[in-house]
Amino acid sequence: MRKSLFFISAASFSLVFLLNGCGTLTSPIKEKQSANVGNQVTQQVVAAPVYKRGEIISSPEAAQQLLIEGNRRFTSGNTLSKDLSLTRRSDLIKNGQHPFAVILSCSDSRVPPELLLDQALGDLFVVRVAGNVVSPVEVGSIEYAVEHLNVPLVVVLGHEECGAVTAAVQGGENHGSIEDILDKIKPSVSKARKSGAIGKDLIEKSSDLNIQNALCEISKSPIIQEGVKAKQIRIIGAKYDLDEGVLKFMNDYSI
Ligand SMILES: [Zn+2]
Repeated sequence: MRKSLFFISAASFSLVFLLNGCGTLTSPIKEKQSANVGNQVTQQVVAAPVYKRGEIISSPEAAQQLLIEGNRRFTSGNTLSKDLSLTRRSDLIKNGQHPFAVILSCSDSRVPPELLLDQALGDLFVVRVAGNVVSPVEVGSIEYAVEHLNVPLVVVLGHEECGAVTAAVQGGENHGSIEDILDKIKPSVSKARKSGAIGKDLIEKSSDLNIQNALCEISKSPIIQEGVKAKQIRIIGAKYDLDEGVLKFMNDYSI
């Protein structure tokens, strides 16, 4: 059962989602109380890591900080220049890839992770599927990144006004395999309806719950569970605001 769901700005940090089945929350990082939310929401205090391009990132906290800083650059228009040269491409072949985050995101053309997080070649391991739904194929991709590439952070990235979520809310006939995607989202829509949400709120609440559901599915992986319990990886939800360009990390999650 969903207990609570909050989002904090990209300038803040999220609680860590540690797994015990599907949805126990703890935070191993020093916290301070936030006064602006009714329920007790905590914000983590983490020193910003000093990151050099090409450096291997093994800390989930450092990886999240890099995403926060990247999204901040994106929204401010001060994105970094990207090294797309043959030298860089050759380096990634010679020395291998060391992405610091897995991003499972919607296929929506307005939500390209590398752009909105201002990252370059070799930085992100991206899995994209309409509605950011999770099947064993997506879990396998994430497991590969965690187990073989030692990626410390897994982010399920949904977004506002998601077409797949909207289609699941509106119902109606869909052809081909589109229905397979919507079937993954419909349980979240049902939960959102039971909460009394209507209209646009229903779509966004369904989207939030769909992110949670994806986290739940990912958390069933023994490989992911092992990494989380060892505090080597973190899995976390996030939602992207289409017009403001801000990515907000999910702060509290429980199923
Ligand atoms: Zn979408």
